[in-house]
Amino acid sequence: MNFESILLPGVDAQRPLVIAGPCSAETEIQVMTTAKALASKGIKIYRTGIWKPRTKPGGFEGVGATGLAWLKQVKKETGMYVSTEVATAKHVFEALKYGVDILWIGARTTANPFAVQEIAEALQGVDIPVLIKNPVNPDLELWIGAVERIYNAGIRRIAVIHRGFSSYEKKIYRNLPQWHIPIELRRRIPELPIICDPSHIGGKRELIASLSQQAMDLNFDGLIIESHCNPSEAWSDKDQQVTPEVLDYILNLLVIRETNQTTEPLGELRRQIDEIDNQLLELLAKRMRISREIGQYKKEHNMTIYQAKRYDEILSNRMSYAEELDMSGDFMKSVLEAIHEESIRQQIKVMNKK
Ligand code: PEP
Ligand code: MN
Repeated sequence: MNFESILLPGVDAQRPLVIAGPCSAETEIQVMTTAKALASKGIKIYRTGIWKPRTKPGGFEGVGATGLAWLKQVKKETGMYVSTEVATAKHVFEALKYGVDILWIGARTTANPFAVQEIAEALQGVDIPVLIKNPVNPDLELWIGAVERIYNAGIRRIAVIHRGFSSYEKKIYRNLPQWHIPIELRRRIPELPIICDPSHIGGKRELIASLSQQAMDLNFDGLIIESHCNPSEAWSDKDQQVTPEVLDYILNLLVIRETNQTTEPLGELRRQIDEIDNQLLELLAKRMRISREIGQYKKEHNMTIYQAKRYDEILSNRMSYAEELDMSGDFMKSVLEAIHEESIRQQIKVMNKK
């Protein structure tokens, strides 16, 4: 594939390319106040959702085309470029009519090839940068498929947005980063720019700085970050938005390393370790939850918490399995003992609950 640069005139070619703005356009005042504050911090590209895909009906589904006029005003008053999410052909036509500069395809849409194809057809003969978020499910082929559909419509200014992947289990991140997926995408299509969306990965503003740094350490090209003039009052995604001042602070803290730095493989391995540790934590939490359910069952059936036979079985078969996997049986024994101790503590709590 032959891509062209997504950089628009006047936008700094230095990493990272930054796109910022509220999750949703709510009111003209909120859109303008946020835009002016971001422009004063040097942000060149504004983002906001006009049509909001929501998991369940009844929530705020976006202001619709009314908000497009506000975006036009943002361009006029701040000189920023504006971008929004499109999910249907109609969205594409409306956004283009109002002079939106960059379009993005949301994670739920990328997961649906019919929808992506419809958008691709609406974009035939149009020359505009298009950013394609990863699908909600961790499927690299589906993500690449969406890039190909948009490319086949004649769009050459394409980038992807890594926003993490859904999972059912309770977790630290709102959407698991699964960094190996965008890394594999970079290996497969090296010339395709990758922008990280730490807001939707983290789901909490406290995680944005470290996720952004990770993205920079992995040599991603840009960041798209949700920023709202009054985050705690936001109509959508309020836990993950930051004020323009905090955004500026986060961006100033970023360390942008040389792309060919020799410690990069080490950083990558450490990130894999971090990811695995998070998975271990989440698995342990899941195991404890099941343990509590067992505690509840034992309570209802008047059984004792500690059942020696079951524990011995667990110990001996896990120890021999550990040895098959090149770990010492004794090591596994100490891990299991620690887990078992915590399990018993949690079951006792369940038993003592009135
Ligand atoms: C968004 O960017 O506001 C959004 C809805 O994101 P995603 O498609 O990643 O869920
Ligand atoms: Mn959002």
